[in-house]
Amino acid sequence: MKESLPVRRPVLNAGFVVLEEVMGDDEVIVRSARVSTGSSGNPEKDRKLLQYLMQHDHATPFESVVFRFHIKCPFFVARQWFRHRIASYNEYSLRYRQAIDDYYVPEGVLSEEEMAEYRRVMEESLKYYRLVIERSRDLATIPQRRRVREVVRGVLGSAFYTEFFWTINFRSLMNFLRLRLDPGAQWEIRQYAESIREMVRAFVPWGMEAFELQVKGSLASDPEAT
Ligand SMILES: Cc1cc2nc3c(=O)[nH]c(=O)nc-3n(C[C@H](O)[C@H](O)[C@H](O)COP(=O)(O)OP(=O)(O)OC[C@H]3O[C@@H](n4cnc5c(N)ncnc54)[C@H](O)[C@@H]3O)c2cc1C
Repeated sequence: MKESLPVRRPVLNAGFVVLEEVMGDDEVIVRSARVSTGSSGNPEKDRKLLQYLMQHDHATPFESVVFRFHIKCPFFVARQWFRHRIASYNEYSLRYRQAIDDYYVPEGVLSEEEMAEYRRVMEESLKYYRLVIERSRDLATIPQRRRVREVVRGVLGSAFYTEFFWTINFRSLMNFLRLRLDPGAQWEIRQYAESIREMVRAFVPWGMEAFELQVKGSLASDPEAT
């Protein structure tokens, strides 16, 4: 049974993924692939069709499913994320709004002493940022205050959190997952990719099955599938 939307999962110490909207499902992919004939009326055959499409890189039917997410992640994760060009992004603005106070706190990497220093640096930069923003409230015009926000955000390190909306079709999402679930990808972005994989599975179970079989290299040619 499909989960009702929105679906929210916490990620890292202060981040999240919210799946807000989904357009389409496995059946839409099948319908797009069989544009003239519609469903075969045989669910097992339709399920196999998705695997056939995946194996033969007949990828456009997967584009008919579109997901819209709300993401909160550290800037350094967003920087990697935004390299995925085949998607739409709308990010929280630090020109118009004050920065989000949360910063990423890694676990099990730095020593206790290093972590204490890490937190000190973060808190100091946040304190300075807030102080300058507070002072800027006395400036006469909105453009002057905005200009201060534009430049003072530079003191916040890439571990501070940002938020954005991400709209992406299923084909491009699979490309994202393929690259960002890989053990070679940075651990932090992998945590987001894993959450997204699990959220999406509920809406396109056959599609995700075909994707995972392909990643494992175990898609078998099935001439009956079409
Ligand atoms: C583990 C890892 C390490 C990385 N390290 C680095 C690094 O050190 N430096 C760095 O700069 N980047 C790095 N990247 C980013 C990587 O090079 C890609 O920019 C990123 O993964 C987005 O992939 P993509 O282009 O497939 O995705 P999208 O931009 O979403 O594109 C999806 C697909 O559309 C097609 N496409 C999109 N745009 C074009 C185009 N202009 N021309 C032709 N085809 C296009 C391609 O088929 C592409 O695969 C790394 C990525 C990973 C996963």
